[in-house]
Amino acid sequence: MQHHTLDVEIGRLLSGPLLACGPDVPIREAARRMAEHRCSAIVVMDHGEPVGIWTEHDALASAAHRTHSADARLVNALIDEPLPEPPDDPADEPANRPIRTVMSQPVRALPASTPAREAAACFVREGIRHGLVIDDNGHALGLVTQTDLVMSQGPECFLQLRTLGCAKPSKPHCIDAAAPFAQALARMREERLSAIVVCAADGSLGILTERDVVRAIGEGAREDGATAGTFASWPLRSLPHTRSLYSARQYLLDNRMRHVGVLDDAGQLCGLLGLADILRDMEHEYVRELQAALRERDDALLASRANLRLADQVVESTLDGVMITDLQGTIERINPAFTRLTGYTEADALGRNARLLSSGRQGPAFYAGLWESIETKGHWKGEIWNRRKDGTPYLEYLTISSIRDTQGLCTHYAAIFADITQRRENEARLSYLATHDALTGLPNRTLFTERIALALARARRSSKRVAVMFLDLDRFKLINDTMGHGVGDEALSVIARRLRESVRETDTVARLGGDEFTLLIEDIDDIRHVGRIAEALLLSVGAPIRTGEQTLFVTPSIGISMFPDDAQDSGRLLMQADRAMYEAKSAGKNNFQFFAAPMTSSAMERIQLETELHRAIDGNEFLLHYQPEFDVRSGRLSNVEALIRWQHPQRGLVPPDQFIPIAEESALIVPIGAWVLREACRQARAWLDEGFEFGRICVNLSARQCLHDGFLAQLANILGETGLPVNRLQLELVESMAMTSSHGGTEALLHELAARGISLAIDDFGTGYSSFRYLQSLPVDTLKVDRSFLAEVGENRPLMRDEGNGSIVRAIVAMAKSLGVSVVAEGVETPNQLRFLREIGCERAQGFLLARPAPAARMPRALPA
Ligand code: C2E
Ligand code: CA
Ligand code: CA
Repeated sequence: MQHHTLDVEIGRLLSGPLLACGPDVPIREAARRMAEHRCSAIVVMDHGEPVGIWTEHDALASAAHRTHSADARLVNALIDEPLPEPPDDPADEPANRPIRTVMSQPVRALPASTPAREAAACFVREGIRHGLVIDDNGHALGLVTQTDLVMSQGPECFLQLRTLGCAKPSKPHCIDAAAPFAQALARMREERLSAIVVCAADGSLGILTERDVVRAIGEGAREDGATAGTFASWPLRSLPHTRSLYSARQYLLDNRMRHVGVLDDAGQLCGLLGLADILRDMEHEYVRELQAALRERDDALLASRANLRLADQVVESTLDGVMITDLQGTIERINPAFTRLTGYTEADALGRNARLLSSGRQGPAFYAGLWESIETKGHWKGEIWNRRKDGTPYLEYLTISSIRDTQGLCTHYAAIFADITQRRENEARLSYLATHDALTGLPNRTLFTERIALALARARRSSKRVAVMFLDLDRFKLINDTMGHGVGDEALSVIARRLRESVRETDTVARLGGDEFTLLIEDIDDIRHVGRIAEALLLSVGAPIRTGEQTLFVTPSIGISMFPDDAQDSGRLLMQADRAMYEAKSAGKNNFQFFAAPMTSSAMERIQLETELHRAIDGNEFLLHYQPEFDVRSGRLSNVEALIRWQHPQRGLVPPDQFIPIAEESALIVPIGAWVLREACRQARAWLDEGFEFGRICVNLSARQCLHDGFLAQLANILGETGLPVNRLQLELVESMAMTSSHGGTEALLHELAARGISLAIDDFGTGYSSFRYLQSLPVDTLKVDRSFLAEVGENRPLMRDEGNGSIVRAIVAMAKSLGVSVVAEGVETPNQLRFLREIGCERAQGFLLARPAPAARMPRALPA
């Protein structure tokens, strides 16, 4: 592709005469003329001077404004000024107003000599689609439209090579054909759509564009009762995503349309492509193509430098500047492009030293490197700042080659360069556009996410906290809808500035789009500091905003998430801050909320669970599951353990690890423990009555529960009430609880229980710091080996006698035998583990392999074969 084909001047693109009208022409009449000439804009002329422009886009704004008078009254609350009553007089009907009241001004004027590429960039940057082309005297020559620019580019190869799919068309916004026309307009305005897809009840698709809106006004249609389908164009024209951009562009131009649907492989609508998308695609491509062209040129040049003279013609006609010097740097020859690029003519340059171009921006070290490369490799290439005759500096991409005679002696140097200042600016601008919000100049989502990642890396090193805030303006949509985007945009700019001023230079404020802002606060020592910042933001954003004669009041809702407390990565932090923002909204807006993670041990969550636990006792939300343990050799069921469950109305079945610790911290464990004991004893009695021989019922005890004064009396009560024989009960205490003498009363209690004939087991054995000698002095008859030890005995590994594989279980079993207590291995999950237990002589086992905890009714009565 030849990059200069993009450089056609816009003066040459003017297609037809200028569509113009006077300032007092009614809007309806202007709209009719535009529809008639199928022009997307009309220029308003006053005494031969262009004073404004009215486009299809503006038409949409004025039409939508009219349909929102109800909202306009709502927004009164936010605005000082009372809104005028809706007009009674037909002369006040908006479509009858003179065009000057709605046109945009000033008109964006572009000199006829502006390159198409530059105009395209300007259109994209300013979000406009029309420019007024003027001559050197400022006289209007005509309008150049986005369509003209696209058309001017000719059948460039990339347009042909690139498919609709790779232009990444935006996902189509759809609206029901039966939806009110006003609603379609509101959506288009809100989401800044130039078109919206309309779906009919029978599945057929149409499209409602700004052009259709103009038509609606032109026809004087009343929107009341009209549906989106009424003014839509049917059907929506679509092309498969495999079609080239080139043919899509041709299709759009041939049909004088600006949008086309894109179909996926299945023939389903997957996108909507506008001419604007093609333009954007082209701009990106341009920079890439130029770089490729420069690279190619250099390679070709290096290959042919020996016969440079043969390439005389090339030198004369090339677009690149060429300069040939002798070994001292005296200029012997230049080409026309050199003069065009530097301003120096042959008369200026020949005989002078090449230093005359030097800008002084590069130091001696730079030139030393340059000469070294030429001497050793025969050439140098790179970017260098030089200066034109008029003094302006420019960046060039320069290649210097040494030219040798037939003996291989260096006789001359050839310098070839292209001015890449523009390319640099393009690149810088593109990267700025890609990372910043056009309206406020704040970083956008891309840059913000990047900044979070950097901040998290820093925070990990310094062990400081980072806060992410998500700020959304309350009811901002109303301002946009009723007062227009102009006012909305102004308010957003003011708020952006206030946010920026409320935080430190090193913090980041970004705009994610619409009325959503985010802040990144670093270097936090104290979380309370974040709360103070949020308070300050509420105040500064909430201060009155003056735009023109109106005063607006806008309040924000703020959600906050903290690193590392809430999440470890940027995506989750943003999501959580967003969620917290919604909390702030539902808490009445104009406030801030910290993210509260569900099911964490955060203080708030605990308080919540504790309240719910109170309710659970009264509400009968607890139940017991039972898990049997078996005799390893005979396969007979030896005991049954009762395990509590909480049937939570919202959270579902909650396992004990998630609420027993909380119940233990409050006194709730006492009533809960009493309930478990009573229910387990009742069930055991029922089994006995059925004739089911289950051994003992095992109940888990918490320290706080059994050290409470009334425990022994309560226990006796329950046994009496349920009629369960004492020798059918086993109580399980965790090792740490049974062993610490600091629990003063424990030892006495254990002896008391044993004296009554109740069996005692030590649970999770091996996880504490047991002293065997002390253990010997306790009336304990069972040790339940914590399941983490058995977990070491892997599924497929051969059993070995050395450490690791089950050596602890082996040691505990041996020790227990010598003490005369029995051992239960917990957590048997694999046949391999069971085999191992048999081998080392462990008598009893419990685990998922044998039976999972389940309701009483589903209790197995023997070990499955
Ligand atoms: P625990 O007393 O050690 O209970 C055994 C736990 O291991 C149970 O979990 C059981 O479901 C699980 N388990 C059994 N076999 C296997 C297996 O093969 N593999 C694995 N991975 N796990 C297995 P659960 O029911 O969630 O109970 C957890 C803990 O909650 C219990 O540990 C006990 O300390 C406590 N707890 C349960 N019910 C009560 C109660 O009524 N009162 C008190 N104070 N604590 C209780
Ligand atoms: Ca247990
Ligand atoms: Ca256990």
